[in-house]
Amino acid sequence: MMNKDVLNTSIEFLKGVGPNRAKLIKNELKISKFKDLLFHFPFRYIDKTKYHKISEINFNSSEIQLIGKITELKELGVGSKKRLSASFSDNTGSIQLVWFKTSKWIIDSIKLNQTYIVFGKINNYNNNISIAHPELEIYSKENIKNRTNLFAVYPSTENLNKRGITNKVFSKLVEELLISINTDIKENLPKYILDKYNLIGRRQSLISIHKPRTSDDLKKAINRLKFEEIFYLQIRLIKKNITRKDKIKGYVFNQIGDKFEEFYNNHLKFKLTNAQKRVIKEIRNDLGSGAQMNRLLQGDVGSGKTIVAFMAALIAIGNGFQTCIMTPTEILSYQHYNKFYEICNLLNINIKILTGSRKASNKKDIKESLKKGEIDLLIGTHALIYDSVEFSNLGLAIIDEQHKFGVAQRSKLWHKNSLPPHILIMTATPIPRTLAMSAYGDLDMSIIDELPPGRKHINTFHQTSKDRLKLIDFLKAEIKKGRQAYVVYPLIKESEKLDFKDLLDGYESFSRDFPMPKYQISIVHGKMNNEDKEYEMQRFIENKTQILVSTTVIEVGVDIPNASVMIIESAERFGLSQLHQLRGRVGRGNHKSYCFLITGNKKTKESKIRMETMVKTNNGFIIAEKDLEIRGPGNIMGTQQSGEMPLKVTSLIGDSRLIQKIRKLVERIIQKDPKLKNINNAIILENLKNMIDKKDIWEYIS
Ligand code: ADP
Ligand code: MG
Repeated sequence: MMNKDVLNTSIEFLKGVGPNRAKLIKNELKISKFKDLLFHFPFRYIDKTKYHKISEINFNSSEIQLIGKITELKELGVGSKKRLSASFSDNTGSIQLVWFKTSKWIIDSIKLNQTYIVFGKINNYNNNISIAHPELEIYSKENIKNRTNLFAVYPSTENLNKRGITNKVFSKLVEELLISINTDIKENLPKYILDKYNLIGRRQSLISIHKPRTSDDLKKAINRLKFEEIFYLQIRLIKKNITRKDKIKGYVFNQIGDKFEEFYNNHLKFKLTNAQKRVIKEIRNDLGSGAQMNRLLQGDVGSGKTIVAFMAALIAIGNGFQTCIMTPTEILSYQHYNKFYEICNLLNINIKILTGSRKASNKKDIKESLKKGEIDLLIGTHALIYDSVEFSNLGLAIIDEQHKFGVAQRSKLWHKNSLPPHILIMTATPIPRTLAMSAYGDLDMSIIDELPPGRKHINTFHQTSKDRLKLIDFLKAEIKKGRQAYVVYPLIKESEKLDFKDLLDGYESFSRDFPMPKYQISIVHGKMNNEDKEYEMQRFIENKTQILVSTTVIEVGVDIPNASVMIIESAERFGLSQLHQLRGRVGRGNHKSYCFLITGNKKTKESKIRMETMVKTNNGFIIAEKDLEIRGPGNIMGTQQSGEMPLKVTSLIGDSRLIQKIRKLVERIIQKDPKLKNINNAIILENLKNMIDKKDIWEYIS
């Protein structure tokens, strides 16, 4: 067998495996080749140099190790209840060892009055302490010496255990593996990197992670493996970004255009923040570069992303191209449409709206004139990416408040033209830096890290229903000052009916506390038809109603600067970024704003953390970090579609410093040696080539 193929050998051929076990292991753990087993890392280590006395065992013990003798062995029960029971004693007491499937093999191998080392989990059945399916090893000097304080425990399954592949057996297989591939593990990082960052060799690290001798060994091994994992992830992301720019041509918008100029000089109602200016410049550069833009714009709620989007659209339109803006909700589509309508008329831009609930005849008209190129700016929901929607020359697609648009949906836009349109994605919530760098590492990133002037901290309070009277008084005072308030109820699919009742009850209760005609209250929820929703929203926008009771249909994007109070009912049922988004509906103008999180008295530990975090900070980036910490990367917006992160040893949270350090290193390498032609980087190039045919999840994030 040629050396380089050893790692691709089927585990069937590993000593101790064979076809049956190979099939089982493949089914249970998706391990089929030597290299899969090599990279199936332990998830923890146990100390096998510690021994207990039987008298020390109590109900709280978990895994223990004993030295003693088996004094009696008997088969109990009949049929499926049949089991083998052994009395095991040391000089302090005795305990039962139990095997639920008795086999002749076990009975024959156990010797009475032989001293054994026993290891296993304590079972507590009817106050009888026992160990089921213990590991048994004959006590000898040699065996004692071989025991380590870092004995690997592998992720496994119930079924594997049942069918005899216990952790001990598994460890033996790994041991065999390490012997047979000893010389086949090749280094994949250049020597200068190993030296500079004080990393151990690859072979040693892979041996040590399975069989560490000391905790220091283990630390070095993990550190080295994290390094290689992050290094190759980052280098692929960065290289992909560069290739995309090389290969994917985009429309060239070579002028800023008269629409932009006219708007900027004569119609812009406020001064752009420096951050907004910087981001517009970044976009402008992309649009003129000849490559397709793929840019992610991050900014906290209320940082002013919309105007940036609009001005980007003006560049595209000024260059003779169509633009679309997609939003996650109809309410948001209408808001943009209503806001842009007047100015578009002034600038002689034909703007239209297309959402699912519009009349069929109206949709048909819009689609026809879109195809003819008569529409310059089309606003809409995901209805925009239906196959029947055809643009004449879509130059720029803007995706607002991204968190409901999947990767697959985004890429659908690509097929609407000969050249792909430029794409600008605006996130609903900031993404933690390390996550952004990994999950979106191949997109260019713009960040608005500055709020428009005059914004004040939103005071946030956590309350229970007993504070209600005070809250109502406070609300009345705010309304008296001319302000408005949102009251939001959760609406979660599983308990839709109950939630809906809560919403209506809440509406009634507020109607009693704020009686007509002095007060007006709007209600908006997902079950209303679009016209009614629009009507109610419009009344609130025009300050004809002072309180808007709603479900989360107003969660993202809604922008009504006069509103200063946000009340979130059953706040414990919302996630952190959702709470932050909802709170972001207030504090959008110059008025001092408030957010009240109302919860029941009983809360989980997690929801307590959420409330505390909200009360403590207004900063979306900090909140996003916390959210990542609580929920893990798999649940954070935008990454659901990307499946599991292919990271085995790296933690996006715990290793954020390391990720940043390696990202910088990779950037430096690529900058100096873009094609990796330098002899010192040959090893990187070779490894990258090997990775290319491996289609992985990063391929379709674009
Ligand atoms: P988001 O980033 O959450 O989408 P918006 O674009 O809706 O935020 O902007 C929030 C509010 O701030 C809007 O009312 C908008 O008109 C206003 N705004 C945006 N930029 C500025 C600015 N530079 N100066 C003053 N107000 C601004
Ligand atoms: Mg917005």
